[in-house]
Amino acid sequence: MHEVALAEGMLRIVEDAARANAASRVHTVLVELGALAHVEPDALAFCFDAVTRGGVADGAKLEIVRTPGAAWCMPCSVRVPLERLGDECPRCGSYQLQVVEGDAMRVREIGIA
Ligand SMILES: [Zn+2]
Repeated sequence: MHEVALAEGMLRIVEDAARANAASRVHTVLVELGALAHVEPDALAFCFDAVTRGGVADGAKLEIVRTPGAAWCMPCSVRVPLERLGDECPRCGSYQLQVVEGDAMRVREIGIA
């Protein structure tokens, strides 16, 4: 399950930020999750809960904001919105698409005390 690795990566970012700000507790973590990332939000939340236990972010609320995906359609030579991986081009129906946005996850905000 690669959500575990992602959650551990998030935890490192969160702990670094907490340390840099001399925070004793992290109460919220806001992450952006692209619509085309191979990540299950529920699984990510579950893993985040598990890896933060006992640390500075124990009990922190994880907020996941989904960001839209986009791809470059080769036949159309334009950028098109893409809701899911495996979807076809909404303009021409082609599957010759290259994902250009929405396949990543990043920590956007960390609420500390
Ligand atoms: Zn197209």
